Amino acid sequence: TKALEISGLKKTYRGGLQALKGLDLTVNEGDFYALLGPNGAGKSTTIGVVSSLVNKTEGSVKVFGYDLDSQLADVKRCIGLVPQEFNFNQFETVQQIVVNQAGYYGVSRTLAKERSEKYLTQLGLWDKRNDPARTLSGGMKRRLMIARALLHEPKLLILDEPTAGVDIELRRSMWDYLTQINGQGITIILTTHYLEEAETLCRNIGIIDKGRIIENTSMKALLSKL
Ligand code: ADP
Ligand code: ADP
Repeated sequence: TKALEISGLKKTYRGGLQALKGLDLTVNEGDFYALLGPNGAGKSTTIGVVSSLVNKTEGSVKVFGYDLDSQLADVKRCIGLVPQEFNFNQFETVQQIVVNQAGYYGVSRTLAKERSEKYLTQLGLWDKRNDPARTLSGGMKRRLMIARALLHEPKLLILDEPTAGVDIELRRSMWDYLTQINGQGITIILTTHYLEEAETLCRNIGIIDKGRIIENTSMKALLSKL
């Protein structure tokens, strides 16, 4: 199965800016995939379309075989999204933020509590569970968003610039965690503009520039060319 199949994806924003100009991209199930490109290349727009936050203008998107247009609920169930901005209520507690996610996915309250303990513990946030999110450091907020994204146990985890603004030590522990859950079978796609991050983590890589994939290759093949 393909975790993600995008073909001919176009996005023109209101005002006329063409952010995606016919983007094709395939990611296999189980892959750890990097979407690498400079600022403004279209990485966030691509992720936004896949996670149904941005309306596409043209093209087709399939997630684990489910079509974004006709099987949106199935697509959403497959995906956990870690956006770039902190988009949670800063006044809620860490555990509330994770547990409240259950409502969107039909996960029972009991199961949500159980899973929130599991993921907050794995991400080193269990001690902070009763603290309001605004008191967390940037790196902790980032990890909180990962725990929240995992609550409904998605098959595909998508992270937009997950380590932006995270210090080097924390970055490594986040990398270790992502590698670990990928090893347990979760497909991961992340965007980054650091080659080093892509290099350390990812098996395959798509290089995006001006709204198109200009290279889609294994990390090994790419490094042998540099
Ligand atoms: P990246 O994530 O690679 O930095 P983006 O997908 O954020 O790239 O942006 C691609 C292009 O689309 C940029 O020129 C950006 O300014 C523009 N853009 C992004 N979001 C919007 C929006 N909501 N409205 C208009 N233009 C946008
Ligand atoms: P969509 O219809 O796909 O959700 P919109 O074109 O409605 O996207 O954009 C949503 C809003 O976000 C717009 O009002 C836009 O001005 C704003 N916006 C967000 N990021 C950017 C950006 N990088 N450049 C320009 N506008 C942006």
